[in-house]
Amino acid sequence: MGGGSGNSSTLYRVIMSTDITLVSRQLFALVDVNNFYVSCERAFNPHLINRPVVVLSNNDGCAVARSNEVKALGVKMGMPWFQLKDLVRQHGIIALSSNYTLYGDMSDRVMTILRDFSPYVEVYSIDECFLGLQGLGKLWPTATDMGQSIRNRIYQWTSLPVCVGFGATKTLAKLANHIAKKQPEFNGVCDLAMMPSSQLDALLSAIEVGEVWGVGRRISQHLHAAGIHTVKTLRIRQPLGCVPDSA
Ligand SMILES: [Mg+2]
Repeated sequence: MGGGSGNSSTLYRVIMSTDITLVSRQLFALVDVNNFYVSCERAFNPHLINRPVVVLSNNDGCAVARSNEVKALGVKMGMPWFQLKDLVRQHGIIALSSNYTLYGDMSDRVMTILRDFSPYVEVYSIDECFLGLQGLGKLWPTATDMGQSIRNRIYQWTSLPVCVGFGATKTLAKLANHIAKKQPEFNGVCDLAMMPSSQLDALLSAIEVGEVWGVGRRISQHLHAAGIHTVKTLRIRQPLGCVPDSA
């Protein structure tokens, strides 16, 4: 499992997926609900807004969703309840049992709204969806305008906050969504496809390569060994020694 050529072809795919020049005519959006389970609970219980909230797994065994306030207190994803208990007492964290019927229903509502924005919809997870936007560019002054419209409509119709990332590949749209979520100055929408190269370079040089979709701990180790630590380096590095997949 995972022999040398397998690693090479995986690295090749990862490097090529961040090469904007190859696929510059394509555009994808990735819409992702922020802190999805917590946001669903807040939509029906406004007392939870601006308070530290954690949602627990099926059997109340561990944390499966955290509000930003809880993240700031150092609660990690998957933290078991027996470790959480003390923090809950100390900081007045509200711990909720999960309600997957509610989350499934809210997910359906979000995906239905997104189908108004593009006929090319790929539901990626319960709270994430790719939109293919080829040929739809003229409908909006800019992709950022479209992203803000998506954010506003989803919030007005469901009370759920989302971030939207745009990119020439799905990998770049994912990365753009990550940036939109982490950097408040983007106001929830980041368009990497139209970004001036100097701004793009500055952004990508500050993002660790492990944030790229599909780069797990093992591939990160290989990339680090090859001197690739940031997304910027990954994007400009020629895939020498890597073997493209024949498929
Ligand atoms: Mg999410």
